[in-house]
Amino acid sequence: MTILVIAEHDNKVVAPATLNTVAAAAKIGGDIHVLVAGQGAGAVAEAAAKIAGVSKVLLADNAAYAHQLPENVAPLIAELGAGYSHILAAATSNGKNILPRVAAQLDVDQISEIISVESADTFKRPIYAGNAIATVQSTASVKVITVRATGFDPVAAEGGSAAVEAVAAAHDAGTSSFVGEELAKSDRPELTAAKIVVSGGRGMQNGDNFKHLYALADKLGAAVGASRAAVDAGFVPNDMQVGQTGKIVAPQLYIAVGISGAIQHLAGMKDSKVIVAINKDEEAPIFQVADYGLVADLFEAVPELEKLV
Ligand SMILES: Cc1cc2nc3c(=O)[nH]c(=O)nc-3n(C[C@H](O)[C@H](O)[C@H](O)COP(=O)(O)OP(=O)(O)OC[C@H]3O[C@@H](n4cnc5c(N)ncnc54)[C@H](O)[C@@H]3O)c2cc1C
Repeated sequence: MTILVIAEHDNKVVAPATLNTVAAAAKIGGDIHVLVAGQGAGAVAEAAAKIAGVSKVLLADNAAYAHQLPENVAPLIAELGAGYSHILAAATSNGKNILPRVAAQLDVDQISEIISVESADTFKRPIYAGNAIATVQSTASVKVITVRATGFDPVAAEGGSAAVEAVAAAHDAGTSSFVGEELAKSDRPELTAAKIVVSGGRGMQNGDNFKHLYALADKLGAAVGASRAAVDAGFVPNDMQVGQTGKIVAPQLYIAVGISGAIQHLAGMKDSKVIVAINKDEEAPIFQVADYGLVADLFEAVPELEKLV
């Protein structure tokens, strides 16, 4: 059995989710190869070669893959992946954009967002916003799988010494082109990789009040997230949304402030190791999943907490 893991990267560094995906591959067992498709991505390939458990890195360095357009990358993966037992990518926006196309081109079903590996052909994945866990067995010749990063502890980024092999195949479908991107810049940790997340909900009342959460987060070295209600109300941008239709996080500590705890929000954070809730309504459902609950007005509790940190 040989498994192909698709590296998540920006042509400069390997994204942390790749380490969780390699961990899922290691649970399946067998040889693990990593594909780096990009342009000028040699440093990514070198870093991928050091990931513990990786035995080979394939580097497809070509202008067609510069922005990892799915129309170009998917045929590459389908061509290379046909000889593998499994193809794995992180269930990020990128992975979710590319892998269904790969599955279609290989004429197999995709197995989405696995959270555990039961055996080489059997996996667990959440359904109904995490209200039920399905056990899925696949008979596909090549198993095309996206991996929910929070389900697997990352492997070590160092320790391996895989060989890097260049791949010449260039697929330019010519059906899409890269126009531009606007990336949110923040000195705070990335939401899905942060060890501590402080999230605000509708109870914050407006975007300006998020300054209380930023102040607390900066002292804790935390990322700041939000409920969908806070995003929909325009308090904060939507890349901060945690939940079923936002980001899935599982930090060591999740502090939910002015968030009621709707099932769609819980779907994105209930696997956090320790959950703290601050809410003035003692009946709020968030307290059912919280390890520590503070029934208080957030505008008093958060500044007080910040002073104590
Ligand atoms: C298909 C679908 C997908 C969805 N996806 C998501 C998702 O990804 N993420 C998500 O979050 N939601 C999602 N939702 C929306 C979800 O159902 C809830 O509407 C949303 O999570 C509520 O956000 P909230 O807790 O901030 O607001 P509310 O439910 O309005 O809760 C606000 C809370 O703040 C408390 N509060 C108010 N003032 C204070 C104060 N001064 N001090 C302390 N506490 C205070 C209140 O007691 C209340 O509990 C989705 C819904 C649907 C239908």
